[in-house]
Amino acid sequence: MTEARGVDVAASLALRGATVVVALHPAEVMEADVVLVGDRIGYVGTAPAGVAARDCSGTLIVPGNVCAHHHAYSALSRGMPHHLAPPQTFTQILQQVWWRLDRALDERAIRASALRAGLDALRCGTTTIIDHHSSPNAIDGSLDIIGEALAELGVRSVLCYEVSDRDGPARAEAAIAENRRFLGRARGLARGMVGAHASFTLSDETLAALADAARSLQSGVHIHVAEDEVDQVDARRRSDHGVLERLDRAGILTRMALLAHCVQVNGPEMDLVRQAGATVVCNPRSNMNNAVGLSPYTYATSGVALGTDGIDGDLMAESQTGYFRAREAEVLTPASWPLARLAEGARFAGAIHGEPLLGVLRPGAPADVVVLDYPAPTPVCADNLAGHWVFGLSSGLVRDVFVGGELVIENGRSTCLDGIEVAREGAREAGRLWARMAEIPPHDFDPERSWT
Ligand SMILES: [Zn+2]
Repeated sequence: MTEARGVDVAASLALRGATVVVALHPAEVMEADVVLVGDRIGYVGTAPAGVAARDCSGTLIVPGNVCAHHHAYSALSRGMPHHLAPPQTFTQILQQVWWRLDRALDERAIRASALRAGLDALRCGTTTIIDHHSSPNAIDGSLDIIGEALAELGVRSVLCYEVSDRDGPARAEAAIAENRRFLGRARGLARGMVGAHASFTLSDETLAALADAARSLQSGVHIHVAEDEVDQVDARRRSDHGVLERLDRAGILTRMALLAHCVQVNGPEMDLVRQAGATVVCNPRSNMNNAVGLSPYTYATSGVALGTDGIDGDLMAESQTGYFRAREAEVLTPASWPLARLAEGARFAGAIHGEPLLGVLRPGAPADVVVLDYPAPTPVCADNLAGHWVFGLSSGLVRDVFVGGELVIENGRSTCLDGIEVAREGAREAGRLWARMAEIPPHDFDPERSWT
């Protein structure tokens, strides 16, 4: 608790009478008021008289969640018809679903997807999205469209365009340029990274260009790694090395790199990641849905964040499902599993935003705050927060959300945009998107073809 002295009362708002999760990991919980001063947490304690107050009795106040690997462009795929034979392999899922959807995206669909994904995330208590975008027929300016849509809703973001050689050298070049351009001008709630699809769709030359872009812009590469065995087999055929050694030799594996999945990796490869200081993002629901296996990072004790891989923006659901999947295979998985991973995602996003206190509710931290309607059945404290998180919380309890001190969700509704209109616009664009997609054949990029 800190002193309330010196607080600008006129610029403050007290969230009064809550149980406050000051930090997720190590857990820190107290009964207190949270006073927001401008875009920051002013202090956590007893609000002084005269400060405007919002009654939060019966609530649990938590730091906003970070989705460390998302694809906002997938937001309009929910319920999408699939007229082709059901894909049977990971490669076929990409060829038949995602590499058709991304080629069907135009600027209107990109904006409608970003609005839908951003609104869904906020409603689930997710205040920061680290996104990985692809739209091969609308590359230039695509990151601006996403950044502006998310900022309109009040979502904090880290954006990149996933560079790939699968759609030819001109598009790979345009995608690198889009990352460079956006990284050079990102501001407000949006920041940039350098995006890359995966080793198995990237030549040595393109990997070198990605490493150069990251180095020159003092950024890291956000890339899918060994999501399926196909990535490892391809890397060994291209380079005589596994994926992580190939990426390390190319200069991709740095302290600022963000490695999504890392399912099919071994101990020496995990040592490479540890030595580089890179961050891994596990996406348990996506991995289960694609039947690609259980990542050994499920049991890592540090350096691992959580993402949804485009399923939705619900980190409550992701962290709970991931925990249960981990427990199914190893009953000694600690209850703090979800909290440690969510804290790591906030640490990574905070480093990119220049906000080392992102993800904690301490004085000076950005005021990214979620109010959950949770009159707890038993007292909540630091020792049992993990139990309440796993067995008691859900995104359906989200009442209010603040990002940078702005109230962006009030009683479950966006204060920035009309949620019904966002849904209508999404539905209109989904119709156009699905119609265009029906005209696009499965992608002919097939890594396995070059092996035989
Ligand atoms: Zn992904």
